[in-house]
Amino acid sequence: MDEFSLIQQFFSAAAINNGVVLGIGDDTAIIKAVEGEELLFTCDTLISGVHFPVDTDPYAIAYKALAVNLSDIAAMGGQARWFTLALSLPEADPDWLEGFSNGLFALANQFAVSLVGGDTTRGALSITISVIGTIAEGQAIRRSGAKPGDDIIVTGMPGIAALALAELQGSIKQAEADSVSSRSKLDFPQPRLLEGQFLRSYASSMIDISDGLAADLGHILQASGCGAILDTDLLLESHYTDMQLPADRIIDSILYGGDDYELLFTVPGALTPMLMKSWDLTFPALTKIGEITAGEDLKILDSSGNVIDIALHGYNHFHDRKKQ
Ligand code: ADP
Ligand code: MG
Repeated sequence: MDEFSLIQQFFSAAAINNGVVLGIGDDTAIIKAVEGEELLFTCDTLISGVHFPVDTDPYAIAYKALAVNLSDIAAMGGQARWFTLALSLPEADPDWLEGFSNGLFALANQFAVSLVGGDTTRGALSITISVIGTIAEGQAIRRSGAKPGDDIIVTGMPGIAALALAELQGSIKQAEADSVSSRSKLDFPQPRLLEGQFLRSYASSMIDISDGLAADLGHILQASGCGAILDTDLLLESHYTDMQLPADRIIDSILYGGDDYELLFTVPGALTPMLMKSWDLTFPALTKIGEITAGEDLKILDSSGNVIDIALHGYNHFHDRKKQ
């Protein structure tokens, strides 16, 4: 199969209109600019054997490659609109491509993002997706807006995806139901786009959790010039399952696990009650896990109120997180 029939067959699904004047097939796509909007650009690469095991289902590979990019748009409070796909493939296997294309468009159609171009080459399997989003001028939520006294809040259940990875690697064993649900969080992260847009009216800073809550909160603290205090009891409250793992193991996974693609954000304390009241019940639950403080330290308190020394875990350094 040559490059052009491959693109035609697997990647030329009729684009959702989305202001696309000209889609796949020319030297560039043409997209209508809109007065009063800013563009959000992001790009992520997934490499076989590094970001996913070589034998991963192609449907899941494509889904996750797009999901992690959409998650970055979500973390700015934006709307995802268009994407490009640079695909490097060892061979053009139609079955593999069929699964990949299905996973890609399942998510693209769910969030109405249009594939408008890309590149196809022969080589080791790697997938680079770039997403362009839009947002009303000046409305994007940056990492730098946190202030002392803001509450720190997280969507959903951070730490779960990393438990699935730990189980795959054989270091823990979960109950059957937890095993299944955590695996689906690892393979099919749900980009929190609608949640991110909702949070534009509340959040002072925001980030999506890809490298573990501690490291990603660290980015907010650094950009905002603040410190924070987290409470491990509150972290555990984000886990409303009755997991059979020891609390320490769960907390470790929340703080250092990663691959969650949940939103971590700060809200001025006075706005939190209104946020909690107006939060859409179809969105994943919110958990307040701590507060922003003056200073620069991230302090984590255990159940008896003692400070846990997280420097030992490599917070804010290149934490050596083991991938597959
Ligand atoms: P060029 O050489 O001008 O970059 P190509 O021959 O690489 O164009 O690609 C032809 C058209 O197909 C372009 O519009 C390009 O954006 C698109 N394209 C190539 N690979 C992919 C892909 N994997 N997914 C979507 N569009 C693709
Ligand atoms: Mg090209």
